[in-house]
Amino acid sequence: MSLEKTSAIVLRLVDFSETSCVVTLFTEDFGKIGALAKGARRPKGPFDSALDLLALCRIVFIHKSSEALDLLTEAKLLRRFRAASRDLSRLYAAYYVAELLLELTEFGDPHPELFGESERALSSLDQEGNIAETVMRFEMSALRQLGYLPALDVCAVCGSPVPAEGRVLFGHLAGGVLCQTCRPGQRQVVSLSRESWDALRSWEQMGLAPERFGDEFQPPVDDPKVRGELRGLMNHYLTNLLGHPPRMQKYLGMLAT
Ligand SMILES: [Zn+2]
Repeated sequence: MSLEKTSAIVLRLVDFSETSCVVTLFTEDFGKIGALAKGARRPKGPFDSALDLLALCRIVFIHKSSEALDLLTEAKLLRRFRAASRDLSRLYAAYYVAELLLELTEFGDPHPELFGESERALSSLDQEGNIAETVMRFEMSALRQLGYLPALDVCAVCGSPVPAEGRVLFGHLAGGVLCQTCRPGQRQVVSLSRESWDALRSWEQMGLAPERFGDEFQPPVDDPKVRGELRGLMNHYLTNLLGHPPRMQKYLGMLAT
């Protein structure tokens, strides 16, 4: 057992008893943790309303070495997610970010860079950031940092480079783009427009070398067709990865337009 301090995003709150709850947090230094928050449900509890869904907090907790829940001892609110009251689509997109963090990460597996991207995505959604682009950037970043990024530059099967022009074949089960030679026999193959493929590669490149791109950089996906195509591709890809569609996925349809 040790006393730890870190920053955290509140992903899930479940009532545990009349006065306590179990909170799932994505932390900067310890990855996802589950912690018991004693007294969190009391009106003037020790956490002073910091434990709000999607909020960013500074926390202190006792890290249990066994399988037992950690014990939260302090939580100070740094930023509450406020957009909920004015824009439901921003709230749904933020729930979606939280859902992917819950589903794609393991307990006790730290990814500080992904924490930074998550914090950035929630902040952008809470303010005036473009929702569709913010979500796509977060998805690409999460896939990259957790090792799930599809092959985009070379054929996922044989490693030959993608042709210089024309549409690009994407094999959902193959795990990335396919050349014409490897196409036969593959299932769940879609044909992707060049523009969509370019946008995906921009997001990938930005993740690999962020210093080459300003913090405000967003790949240009003004075209609703490209947005719709990428939304469909990502929905399909994540559904295969998780083994089921993300619960919030159906609310993302509106973001494609
Ligand atoms: Zn091939």
